Amino acid sequence: MSQNERPVDDRVSDFGLKGVGTDPKLKGPWNWHPDLPLEMPPLFDWPLRPLETIKFLLGKGFLISQFFLFALLAMVTWFYFLPPLNQWATFSVDWIVHVFILNTVLSLLVAGGLHLYFHTWKKQGTVHKYDRRELARKNKAFLFNNQVLDNMFWSLTSGTLFWTGWQVLFMWLYANGLLPWSAFSENPIWFIVAFIVIAIWESMHFYFVHRMIHWPPLYRVAHALHHRNVVIGPWSGLSMHPIEHFIYFSTPIIHLIIASHPIHLFYHMYITALGAYTGHVGYEDYQVKGKSVIGVANFFHTLHHRYFECNYGTPMMPWDKWLGTMHNGSAEDTALINQRRAKMYQ
Ligand SMILES: [Zn+2]
Ligand SMILES: [Zn+2]
Repeated sequence: MSQNERPVDDRVSDFGLKGVGTDPKLKGPWNWHPDLPLEMPPLFDWPLRPLETIKFLLGKGFLISQFFLFALLAMVTWFYFLPPLNQWATFSVDWIVHVFILNTVLSLLVAGGLHLYFHTWKKQGTVHKYDRRELARKNKAFLFNNQVLDNMFWSLTSGTLFWTGWQVLFMWLYANGLLPWSAFSENPIWFIVAFIVIAIWESMHFYFVHRMIHWPPLYRVAHALHHRNVVIGPWSGLSMHPIEHFIYFSTPIIHLIIASHPIHLFYHMYITALGAYTGHVGYEDYQVKGKSVIGVANFFHTLHHRYFECNYGTPMMPWDKWLGTMHNGSAEDTALINQRRAKMYQ
């Protein structure tokens, strides 16, 4: 049996979420995937590869990537969309609701826009679309029997609440002088480098918290909700259980020890929240006239949704490679991961 013919994992149905993993329509092959085996970016190669690393960061690694767009959005947020810093020093409904509404609008624009573009209007057809299958309808595993509405529900309620909650807490800490501060005017080099450091930290935090919620008891209670999404769309990104939202959005704790600016915090929350939407689009990139303009969702996490016990992190930092949990897309890795999963759940 070739890799493309391998049946999709049906473990989700073991946890009482019948109808997702057992649906025969879900056993289709990939529509498309990048060249395999997947390679990790050069950032953490040993011996170091400084030239390739700089080239990577000036290209798809940062400057021509969502990270750069989220950094710009964070700056626009700071300058135009939020009340001034001194108002954040006291918790008050005004500005907290303001942040919640802003985050809701961003969710609707980013996840909603991507869903309409790729999945409703199918503007890119099936070009660089990973899965041949469509998002589930008339499926009892999902609220309202509809995967998209279910995913929107979890993203726009608990998802946006916990995102806003952690963001508000750290805004309050900044305003009260309780976080190490760094502005562009004081140290421009660190101000720029911090964007990369935060992206690397976020990748590491995600690996370890994600691995933790794959611990079977916690998986059953919380993370199984996210994994009902075997086929994924943008709204699947933050379709998580509130316990997972709480843990997932704890990533800004790094600002307790590194000098940063609220712009860095907004950027951090955007790569975590909006990056979850983009990361589940189901397409590798956004194209114009047949040319790739910017990467959207990586195949790395798409493999996680099909094979579960692999690729807990992101390609930014190769924790999966270091700790032996990487699935590089090959049939050999599928066999290894299946063995690993059988051991975890025997
Ligand atoms: Zn996911
Ligand atoms: Zn997972």
